[in-house]
Amino acid sequence: MNCDCHIHMVLDGADWRAAIRRHREAVDLGWIRGRLAEYQARGITYLRDGGDRWGVGAAARAMAGEYGITYRTPLAPLCLEGYYGRFIGRTYRTTKEFARLVTQTRREGGDFIKIMISGLMDFDRFGVLTEEGLPPELIRELIHIAHQEGLAVMAHGNGARCVQAAAEAGADSIEHGAYLDPEALRAMAQAGTVWVPTLSTVGNLRGRGRFREEAVRAILDSALENVAAFAGMGGLIAPGSDAGAWAVPHGSETELPLLEMALGREAEAIAEKGAHRIRQVFRQR
Ligand SMILES: [Zn+2]
Repeated sequence: MNCDCHIHMVLDGADWRAAIRRHREAVDLGWIRGRLAEYQARGITYLRDGGDRWGVGAAARAMAGEYGITYRTPLAPLCLEGYYGRFIGRTYRTTKEFARLVTQTRREGGDFIKIMISGLMDFDRFGVLTEEGLPPELIRELIHIAHQEGLAVMAHGNGARCVQAAAEAGADSIEHGAYLDPEALRAMAQAGTVWVPTLSTVGNLRGRGRFREEAVRAILDSALENVAAFAGMGGLIAPGSDAGAWAVPHGSETELPLLEMALGREAEAIAEKGAHRIRQVFRQR
């Protein structure tokens, strides 16, 4: 694959606190250049960042052309105060504040809007999320506001109901998407939402001893099953490793083999198609 549709330049795959500290006072341009050079050496020509509020993704975008890489960033991800994502994003308390942040993001040159609509998987307990998703009505409103501003929406979401609401509201891509059911998958397929299942964030936990192996295996198996079912519905699937997340270093090449576990030999062709859609949609309009 010559692209990665979900990375976090601000993170390093090891220690998120230390990674953020590296850039907090001033963005460490040399560190970013090192990563961009590695991506270039691996033949990567397209990266889509999940965003950060310290300007790391924006700095990477400014330099990426020198490495032959098209780089897209939402600037900071936007998250509801008190909900998942505040460690890395900008927070809002009301839809009015959200709308202001969307306008600000557009003015400051964000390529798209990243919203956080659910928590994370609890990797020790199959089926459990760290927190509930946002209410469906709110999710619909957020997506509507971003689209009104002319920006595509990348939604970090796990759990069937919040992902279904996002797809029905026209979210352009869903990231992660753990624990989806046929109804949510069908909603995504019908809406043409691209699913970036970031299988590496789960697959790379195998055998690491940090989480219960049976739970990691069960979470991965359910994701693989859903990816296969989604492809069977004609859904768009794009490769995104979530590089920067724990156990997913930049330049990690685990995503395609994991997609192959779900999709077999078709995996690369399917992922190319999804990546193509991502490249078309996630840019300033
Ligand atoms: Zn991510």
